[in-house]
Amino acid sequence: MPEKTYISVILPLKLEWEPCYSIPEGTPEGSIAVGDRVRVTFVGKEYIGAVSAVGIPPETDPSKIKAVTRIETGLEKILPEEIRLWKMVAEYYMCTVGEVYKAAYPVSKINLEEAHAAALARAHERYERLLDGMRQKVNRIEERLKKKEELAGKAKEGTKAKTKYAEGALRIRQELETAVTALKNAEEKSSNGPSRSSIDTQEFCPVSLTPAQIAAYDEIQATFKSGKPAMIQGVTGSGKTEIYVRLAQGTLSRGRNVLYLVPEIALSRQLEDRLSEHFGESLMTFHSAETAASRRSTAEAMRNSNGYIVLGTRSSLFLPHHDLGLIIVDEEHDSSYKQDSPAPRYNGRDTALMLSTIHRCSVVMGSATPSLEEIYNCECGRHSLVRLEERYHGGTGSEVEIIDTRAERKKRGMIGNFSRKLISHIENALSEGGQVMILRSRRAWSSAIQCVECGDIPKCPHCNVSLSLHKVGESERMVCHYCGQTFQYRSTCVKCNSEMKSLGAGTQKIEEEAAALFPHARIARLDSDTAQNKTYEKQTIRDFSQGKIDILIGTQMVTKGFDFGGLTLVAVIAADTLLGVQDFRADEKAVQILEQFSGRCGRRYSTGLTVIQTSQPEHPVYKTLASGGSYQYNSSLLMERKDFGFPPYTRIIELTIKDSNEKRANAMAFALASHVRAGFDVTGPYSPAVDKVADLHIRIVRISMKKDRNQRQHKKSLMQSIRIFEKERRYDGHITINVDPA
Ligand code: ADP
Ligand code: ZN
Ligand code: ZN
Repeated sequence: MPEKTYISVILPLKLEWEPCYSIPEGTPEGSIAVGDRVRVTFVGKEYIGAVSAVGIPPETDPSKIKAVTRIETGLEKILPEEIRLWKMVAEYYMCTVGEVYKAAYPVSKINLEEAHAAALARAHERYERLLDGMRQKVNRIEERLKKKEELAGKAKEGTKAKTKYAEGALRIRQELETAVTALKNAEEKSSNGPSRSSIDTQEFCPVSLTPAQIAAYDEIQATFKSGKPAMIQGVTGSGKTEIYVRLAQGTLSRGRNVLYLVPEIALSRQLEDRLSEHFGESLMTFHSAETAASRRSTAEAMRNSNGYIVLGTRSSLFLPHHDLGLIIVDEEHDSSYKQDSPAPRYNGRDTALMLSTIHRCSVVMGSATPSLEEIYNCECGRHSLVRLEERYHGGTGSEVEIIDTRAERKKRGMIGNFSRKLISHIENALSEGGQVMILRSRRAWSSAIQCVECGDIPKCPHCNVSLSLHKVGESERMVCHYCGQTFQYRSTCVKCNSEMKSLGAGTQKIEEEAAALFPHARIARLDSDTAQNKTYEKQTIRDFSQGKIDILIGTQMVTKGFDFGGLTLVAVIAADTLLGVQDFRADEKAVQILEQFSGRCGRRYSTGLTVIQTSQPEHPVYKTLASGGSYQYNSSLLMERKDFGFPPYTRIIELTIKDSNEKRANAMAFALASHVRAGFDVTGPYSPAVDKVADLHIRIVRISMKKDRNQRQHKKSLMQSIRIFEKERRYDGHITINVDPA
């Protein structure tokens, strides 16, 4: 009788081991390999697993080992590099390889035809946008040329200024010629219909860098040669994206592939148009919201292509990458790179570094406001910092004005949530043809409501949090922002029948106030309520960048890396909610958000203005912003972190307990803390600011771990300790582990 072949299989489960199966008799030899997908049953259920080893010795009594149900030859084969990444991620983030596999290959019905149709439609749509973008670019350059020529015409004959303007005009004229040729070529090709091979915009969209950018580019190249990741710290508008493009072009021309990561989908949409000018059909976009079908079509295109560039959010790290030459991590500091739930709770930035070790490829990160982690990495020489100081269009950034709302209120200087000073700034900006963006970090009409008599604040019955008031057309309703449930709103108190007042104006109310204050302005709002309508979201961003909206009001969403040329004023209303409590990262994040936001304006030619309305004008976060540099502040934050033993000097691992029974949650949290205290540095247990969500009580135990060579070992023993606790207490399924919480 011929010997049976045994394989181990990774299952999409929270399973610490890889079960063993046998290959059905009669399967031709050599027809199964590592990376193949197989259908198997495990504890009575069917799964599609990934083969992780072939020809292993049988794990137990061979008669008890089941055969695989079927070898799924129609499914994507997994590359060895992918499995290596899963193992690294699982080890680092303390989850199972199966959980990473599940995230990388989400199950859902995969229909090939659907995938092809979707891919074609997307290619077509993108091509239309590409043409549109090129036309706009030509228009923009023509405008710049007109301005420069005007200046040159006005300047006195023979002066230095005259020569400078004339030279500038010449340069712009060359730029215009290139852009027009590119457009003509593309239009010609489009009349033949877009097809993968016929569109190669790379040839006709070269990037010409400024001297400052060339210097940065050279520094990055030198860093790559030394095998280190490079970190570009550059103000918004300095041309980081142009440098990424140049680096990507170089990588592609050497026949290697590129992964371009952004923290959020909305950003990838704006970049997509810009990048497709350079990369045409080699560009593929991918993010987690995409269907399994489009994942499949992206994966297929990657396989069949040498010379691809994938633009995507963190989940695109798990695409079947091959011959990767460069990973770009844009807006490196952004906490949206971190996945909170479910496992793997990974950070896209750090996972990019892991992926780069597998492919031995270069990594470039960039941000106007680097994370303290990155500053630390550069300071200790692990990464190399490259600075880019000038803005391309010469904008000088923005001036900062801080408005003390308590003082203003006393002077009757407030109309609703707007100070008179801010109102006049907005009026000025609008009358000069500028655009305005207003940040308010709470959505809804108001974030809470309170009885004027008894002080009662309606709370969600399932979460320990106040209900927000939303206006929906003429009616109003209360919504829990944590579990999403909605409740009927009565304008009188349930307890004493008195009147209710709203607390903490949200974006919806700000929008209404703005409409009353600036009746002639075109106003739009962007927050997670309005952005649920994806078409609205895209259109709003596009309209604003084309100057069809005067005032854009929104939550943090509007602070991210968008490039809006006409923006001259940004304002933050009730900035103090950004400061937060409890979280040791709050101030770092607040500075990042405010600097990012402030960097949105003053990008072109002019100086912008950033107005901050606060009741704590003395807070160091605002002082930092006003003094124009987070550099010193960052050093002081780093010092603080060192003194308190916080990251980046240590590593934090958070254990979260969720339990429907409050008493048990408390008891278990205490027991867990003392159980792990034996081997680790533990704080807690404590309750988070919102300590009950969807009827589950939440308790947290925090472990800080030294950053030393034995980290792997420490994590392993922590994991063991937790598993023992779960077993002894029969407390499976309540504890989650979060490494490097954001
Ligand atoms: P960042 O990514 O640092 O915010 P961008 O790369 O978006 O900066 O550049 C800001 C603006 O300046 C963009 O509109 C970009 O097209 C333009 N720009 C920057 N560098 C160049 C260059 N070398 N040639 C032409 N345009 C440039
Ligand atoms: Zn009351
Ligand atoms: Zn709730």
